Amino acid sequence: EKVEFVSYLEQIIERFEMNKVEGITFTKQLPNESIYVWLDKDKLTQVLDNVISNAIKYSPEGGAVHFHVKRMRHKLQVSIKDEGLGMPSHTVEKIFDRFYRVDKARTREMGGTGLGLAIAREIIDAHHGEIWAESQEGKGTTVFFTLPLMNQKRRGSR
Ligand code: ATP
Ligand code: MG
Repeated sequence: EKVEFVSYLEQIIERFEMNKVEGITFTKQLPNESIYVWLDKDKLTQVLDNVISNAIKYSPEGGAVHFHVKRMRHKLQVSIKDEGLGMPSHTVEKIFDRFYRVDKARTREMGGTGLGLAIAREIIDAHHGEIWAESQEGKGTTVFFTLPLMNQKRRGSR
């Protein structure tokens, strides 16, 4: 379906804020314009829920989570950055594999199956976007994804 991405994302962020995540601050840098994308809302919500939950789950109290949406020529780039545990650089590609969890001892107590990001990658692939991560151990993690923009031909009619 056709979705205005900026207000859609704001609603998701608000939902997390309402559930008062202890000691985590959300900041955001979002475009002032409407950005239309064609997406399966339920599926994309699954992606965002997992990425945001991860940012919270793997952050200490007092950490900040920053949302950034950037409009590029043919696509939209979203990044969700945390100041949490981070991970060694050789694992950032593996976290998108099924059942992979960084340092099992560390993450066991935090719950989860290690499927969230594998599913996220499938969903973003199905939307013809890309998803990847950058991370530094002890510093934090940023998860990026892109989505193709809808045809902008009728821009004047918005
Ligand atoms: P699930 O999402 O299935 O409940 P999960 O959160 O462990 O379980 P994924 O979301 O797929 O699984 O993440 C895989 C692994 O990547 C996590 O177990 C964790 O080790 C690491 N990881 C993911 N996001 C972050 C993050 N923001 N900071 C640090 N580590 C992360
Ligand atoms: Mg997860």
